Amino acid sequence: MSKLIKRRSFLKGAAVAGAGAAAVAASNLAAPAIAQGKRELKMVTTWPKNFPGLGTSAERLAARIGSASGGAITVKVFSAGELVPPFESFDAVSQGTADMYHAADYYWQGKSKAYNFFCAVPFGLTASEMNAWIHHAGGQQLWDELGAGFNIKPFMAGNTGVQWGGWFNKEMTGLEDFKGLKMRMPGLGGEVLRRLGSAAVALPGGEIFPALQAGTIDATEWVGPWNDLAFGFYKVTKYYYWPGFHEPGTVLSCGVNKGVWDSLSAGEQSLIETCAAAENDMVLAEFNAKNSDALATLVNEHGVQVRRMPNDMLNAIGGKSGEVVAEAAASDPMTQKVYDSFLAFRGKAIAYSKLSDQAYWQARLLPFKYG
Ligand code: CA
Repeated sequence: MSKLIKRRSFLKGAAVAGAGAAAVAASNLAAPAIAQGKRELKMVTTWPKNFPGLGTSAERLAARIGSASGGAITVKVFSAGELVPPFESFDAVSQGTADMYHAADYYWQGKSKAYNFFCAVPFGLTASEMNAWIHHAGGQQLWDELGAGFNIKPFMAGNTGVQWGGWFNKEMTGLEDFKGLKMRMPGLGGEVLRRLGSAAVALPGGEIFPALQAGTIDATEWVGPWNDLAFGFYKVTKYYYWPGFHEPGTVLSCGVNKGVWDSLSAGEQSLIETCAAAENDMVLAEFNAKNSDALATLVNEHGVQVRRMPNDMLNAIGGKSGEVVAEAAASDPMTQKVYDSFLAFRGKAIAYSKLSDQAYWQARLLPFKYG
């Protein structure tokens, strides 16, 4: 089928639902919206409406696509639960109920464990390393191959940077403190906790605070100071631990229904790709700009106790993480392929970061006077 025919049949089909689908389906291609090539895409998200940094990024990506296309493509955003429950966003896009999602791909590890690697894995890659692997070291090709099996074309569309270890209702002094702990932690980080004897659950963002308040969970991780302040976890738990070993640079993703994607012109595809890349930068910048002040608010205004996870605890968790990630890789051939690429890149990234980012950060902490 030629691209033009595919495009016309697409325009006659689901994507124009809501703009008078019945009339359009009667092949009235002269209708103004169609003649001008306008279309509306439905974006489902896993975030509460306008949640800072996540929901707002989905809205900003939609607005960016709208303005960059001169209004030819409008994206209507549905927050968690508005069109489908948050964790059904993947199926909705895969099956065409929605045209695209904005989410974190580790939520889809039930589809394939390979999805963890395109979001965050414990002791994995930082934000800049994820960008490097996905854009320049084969990651995007593997993600496309994985997505094709589910009728989804994926993109990076944001990054939270290094997350925090989470909120606890007690001090965590050793590994034994994880035994019996009921904690919200998604992805492979949750599996690491299970190996430590915790009961880990992967609640969507909007369900965490009520669960914490009701005592259904004892502890939670979410993102970092800016996002965690917005959810108000400090009202229930006071011990806030860093660093977030489980999410060192979490990718937010935009997945587009493959049929919708293939029906777009090369220019429209490029536009969406470029908007997602712009948003990928914008989100990380926003988290980096806002986390520091939010942490000060948590500590100074809400009496939050900030604690660092001790090295022996992190070292033990690191070992468990390595086991969990390797076992996940063995779950299917695609995940193994993704893991092999990820692991090879991780090795190079560690070797080089010692001489670059990490070396500079250590140098900057030397006690010289500056300014
Ligand atoms: Ca998180």
